[in-house]
Amino acid sequence: METASHIWSDGELIPWDSANVHFLSHALQYGTGVFEGIRAYNTPEGTAVFRLHEHMERLGASARAYGIPMKYTVEEWDEACLHLIRETGLESAYVRPQIFYGGGSIGINPAKNEVKSMMAAFPWGAYLGDDAAEQGIDTMVSSWRRISHTSLIPTAKGSGGYLNAVLAKQKALSAGFDEAIMLNDAGSVSEGSGMNLFVISKDVVYTPPVSAGILEGITRNSVIDLLRDEGVEIREIDLARGALYAGDEMFLTGTAAEVTPIRSVDRRLVGDGKRGPITKKAQELFTAAVAGKLDDYRDWLSFV
Ligand code: PMP
Repeated sequence: METASHIWSDGELIPWDSANVHFLSHALQYGTGVFEGIRAYNTPEGTAVFRLHEHMERLGASARAYGIPMKYTVEEWDEACLHLIRETGLESAYVRPQIFYGGGSIGINPAKNEVKSMMAAFPWGAYLGDDAAEQGIDTMVSSWRRISHTSLIPTAKGSGGYLNAVLAKQKALSAGFDEAIMLNDAGSVSEGSGMNLFVISKDVVYTPPVSAGILEGITRNSVIDLLRDEGVEIREIDLARGALYAGDEMFLTGTAAEVTPIRSVDRRLVGDGKRGPITKKAQELFTAAVAGKLDDYRDWLSFV
């Protein structure tokens, strides 16, 4: 990965190579952390962070959900993020804040462990490859089910929960696919390993609801707003696996993946295998929004 000069660590900027944790950090042993993924874009008017406050609010909500104390307010996280990008001089960046339990005790109860807060910003290009935005990607329905509301908190970005995403992603790659689509315990469609899913059928856009065990993606919500504004009908409803083989178009959304078309599911082509018109529209609107070109959505950007 590409790196940057500094990392934000509990209120201070420290050199990238000095950002270390103890082997016995609670989060390293048990996954007791929460995190975010945010992008800053190089716009004609300078670098801007996309929906910064919503991401930091979700960080706070994730921490609350898993009972991890917040040492900094959401507003302090917002400020720290802008400060970090300014000081590292990055024109565009992927930003990774995390709150996690460090060392202090090795038992399951983390109450005696110190809480650490960190944030890194670094360059990161297209998550699913440079061709993906036009050509789309090949997906498989994973045999791994998405973490459920009965054992973890799928609506929170908890570090330990991502073992589930890693299993699904590794399996998909080793089987020759680019990405996994996970069902939930009830067998309904949930999402990808780190992105939300949309299926288009007869000009109506469908996407699984929060109750399906998805993380409520900020890109998902942005694309819903942008398409609805254009008069496109969007329905948040449970989708059966069969819907994945019947769609005219499909795409994934996420901060890392942005808007990525799906070319195939389980080796069946989606439509004719080419990026469809609503997918293209969603990409164009999203690209315009992150570049500050849509007046109605300027407040989604925080200029560095
Ligand atoms: N689902 C999961 C499991 C994710 O990790 C992500 C990435 N944060 C998403 C969906 C997409 O969310 P967002 O658009 O907010 O990045």
